[in-house]
Amino acid sequence: MGVDKSDDLVALCKRRGFIFQSDEIYGGQKGLYTFGPMGVELKNNLKQAWWKSVVWQRDDVEGLDASLLTSPKVLKYSGHEDTFTDPLIDCKDCKTRSRADQLIDGACPKCGSKNLTEPRPFNLMFKTNIGPVADGSSFAYLRPETAQQIFTNFKNVIDSTGRAVPFGIGQMGKSFRNEITPGKFIFRVREFEQMELEFFVKPGTDEDWFNYWVKARIDWWIEQGINRDNLEVFEAPKNDLSHYSKATTDLLYKFPHGFEELEGIANRQDFDLGSHTKNQSDYKISAKVMKNKDSTTKLGVQDLETKQFYVPYCIEPSAGVERGVFAVLNEAYHEEDVDGKTRIVLGLKPHLAPIKAAVIPLKRNNDNLVNEAKNIKNILQKLGKGRVMLENSGNIGKSYRRHDEIGTPICITIDFDSLDDHAVTVRDRDTMEQKRINTDELVNYYQEYYGKE
Ligand code: ATP
Repeated sequence: MGVDKSDDLVALCKRRGFIFQSDEIYGGQKGLYTFGPMGVELKNNLKQAWWKSVVWQRDDVEGLDASLLTSPKVLKYSGHEDTFTDPLIDCKDCKTRSRADQLIDGACPKCGSKNLTEPRPFNLMFKTNIGPVADGSSFAYLRPETAQQIFTNFKNVIDSTGRAVPFGIGQMGKSFRNEITPGKFIFRVREFEQMELEFFVKPGTDEDWFNYWVKARIDWWIEQGINRDNLEVFEAPKNDLSHYSKATTDLLYKFPHGFEELEGIANRQDFDLGSHTKNQSDYKISAKVMKNKDSTTKLGVQDLETKQFYVPYCIEPSAGVERGVFAVLNEAYHEEDVDGKTRIVLGLKPHLAPIKAAVIPLKRNNDNLVNEAKNIKNILQKLGKGRVMLENSGNIGKSYRRHDEIGTPICITIDFDSLDDHAVTVRDRDTMEQKRINTDELVNYYQEYYGKE
């Protein structure tokens, strides 16, 4: 899909219930979006695919779901209070606020004026009060990334699971950033979800694990339907690395507005565990950590061979769910000409499709047809592959169009013959081929179809 199609994709997202602007009936909020009935299924399926691949299918990763409200101490020692800033510039003429790196030829992107303030650091974290007293004495941040509470729970996970390095902790969930310039649809928003893995390794093995994870993550995106040609691997130059990073590789995706970051993979060294640990001087820590006076817990582990205690290194693949949803939608959106009419199809990978099968009675007011359709819907729904929908609109052409547009891989039509011959018509989204399948065989057909994933 080229740049010119992005408006069509955004329109489809609204028309078919994938993505809405938040608070739209009150004029909308910039940088906040709501996932609609189809969007929530797609998003959950993408997250589920990540969780399966990163947690369930491995033998060396555990999951976590930590709180979103985060103590200022966590974000002090992680460095976020001091350094999680973007350079903010105000245009003195039109009052537009911009990020210094987003000026166009040194001028305001809105009015072109060069009458600008000096850049000043703007912290991207949202703050809120905790408890009933609102005098500012007790506050928390809404977490700006899911990672930090993985580090602060490192010992809890080890103690409760008996894990030894190398092993990882994965977490998916909301993060909040008060972005100066949200935009490009759901590419840059102020509230989003991340899928983050912190994989802990012995220093010295970190570079191999880093390369391993870069490759594993590219392969995973390809499995989600991303064309390899639309991914670029960008190694951040050494002088551009974050304070904690020894190496960072970004996976850039060809969004409608150009190649931009979909996921970042960083070698965070021993920065985070080193910064959050008690008794820092007991360890040989390589990263420039924050001096910690408040931690109650030692976050080192013992090397079973040398018996020495050390702070593990950490490799972090960190992906954005919204950017992932945007990328898979962008890949899937196609328009084709069928008998002189435009057919819009979302060619989503079946495991990501919001609806796994639509069961369509040919006539909506016929109880026999509708009951048989409900019966088949319930049988397929119980197979646990995802949402199956009873599509009781009574208009077969409209139903096919709708399900092509939301990416439903198979439509199952119940007609009057079905009541006698116990067979149904199964239509394939991509080829539009229709075949008659006996209802006894439908379960096998469906299971094989989704079993392949
Ligand atoms: P960018 O440079 O685009 O602001 P970042 O380098 O700050 O991104 P990270 O801190 O590495 O991003 O976050 C990891 C992932 O989280 C990113 O690759 C992206 O997919 C996602 N992400 C970060 N910020 C946002 C945002 N404002 N909206 C949507 N997704 C985001």
